[in-house]
Amino acid sequence: MDDTTPVAIIGAGPAGLAVAACLRQAGVDFVLLEKEAQAAPAWRRHYERVHLHTTKRYSSLPFVPFPRDYPRYVPRDLFADYLDAYAQRFDLRARFGQSVRMITRQGRGWHVEATSGDLHASHVVIATGNNAEPLMPGFAGADAFRGERLHSADYRNATPFAGRSVLIVGMGNTGAEIALDLVEGGARPTISVRGGVHIVPRELLGVPIQMIGMAARLMPQRINDALFPVILDLTLGRLEKYGLKRPSQGMLQQIAVASRIPVIDVGTVDKIREGAIKVAPDIAEITEQGAHFADGKHHEFDAIIFATGFRPGYARLLEPGIQPGRSGVNARASELGLYLIGFHNTVTGLLREISIEAGQIADDIRLRRDRKNAAEILPI
Ligand SMILES: Cc1cc2nc3c(=O)[nH]c(=O)nc-3n(C[C@H](O)[C@H](O)[C@H](O)COP(=O)(O)OP(=O)(O)OC[C@H]3O[C@@H](n4cnc5c(N)ncnc54)[C@H](O)[C@@H]3O)c2cc1C
Repeated sequence: MDDTTPVAIIGAGPAGLAVAACLRQAGVDFVLLEKEAQAAPAWRRHYERVHLHTTKRYSSLPFVPFPRDYPRYVPRDLFADYLDAYAQRFDLRARFGQSVRMITRQGRGWHVEATSGDLHASHVVIATGNNAEPLMPGFAGADAFRGERLHSADYRNATPFAGRSVLIVGMGNTGAEIALDLVEGGARPTISVRGGVHIVPRELLGVPIQMIGMAARLMPQRINDALFPVILDLTLGRLEKYGLKRPSQGMLQQIAVASRIPVIDVGTVDKIREGAIKVAPDIAEITEQGAHFADGKHHEFDAIIFATGFRPGYARLLEPGIQPGRSGVNARASELGLYLIGFHNTVTGLLREISIEAGQIADDIRLRRDRKNAAEILPI
């Protein structure tokens, strides 16, 4: 492979597929490069019980709603089926097994170095995912632990942990859902929560929280941040007594500033109330048998699961000195012909954001191509 394309898309997850479909509909040619052997490999690898937390109405990709018979919160396997059908419908023909190693400036376009050859592209769309690399912060004593240690990225189901005591480090959406999965699968989970955590139910009075988030964006952030705790206390109850404090930063402010979305509760809080899932504070030190916590207590565990998050890894693909713009279309992205998609976490869901960004990026590329063609025909 050593060819030229108007657009190279890196990554065939939901974001890469969405932008490819929008380009296909706009009549712009592209090459879609995916390092693994199938589209959306991350979704095939996620833990088995995972469902979308956002409603199917606001989580589908451009042009194609989810099938009518899909449930409101789409399970992992159905989502993967939907993505396969989507790729087929728009004839997206990803080149699999193509890991992009480096993207460098070449003339007014880009040189893309991939596994089996190089590519010259006028535009590049980076769709390599916000969750590309598992984050594993160092904990004092972690190497001394004699039990099993794994990152949440390697967790599939509760079967290997049945009857065992498991420490889950971190209460984001993944940590909270794995704790629930473990308790339902017969394990004894404890979840270590550092600082505070914002928790919302998946639905408030039957209305999906994602839709409430969409409506809330119409009001000033500070009013929302004052109002939400009151409403949530009425629905979920006061959770401080179970060790779940709210952070001092408001929920919407935290999303805007730190890109941290609240935990969308699908049953973990009830299990915490029942005492089936224990809550512990921050870890002071991991020991051979378990962990010392910030409250001075020590507990023994058979396994530790680090639900400590992920980071996007695209920066190392870029030639040093290249500063891309933010996710989506903006002046910087247009000027460079280098776009990011899928890196802007919002209260209304990343998939919804991906759909919006995909359409905007395809429009911007088509417009630039049309302007370039016009300038070549009618040089000023
Ligand atoms: C457990 C979980 C649940 C989620 N639930 C929801 C939800 O309910 N609602 C919602 O809106 N969002 C949700 N998200 C967030 C987000 O929508 C998903 O992470 C979604 O998969 C993002 O799509 P993406 O295409 O940006 O990234 P990914 O799905 O991660 O796809 C990136 C692709 O790029 C490929 N790639 C990476 N590097 C290279 C390279 N160098 N060369 C070639 N290919 C490369 C990868 O192999 C991968 O196929 C969830 C995320 C997680 C982790």
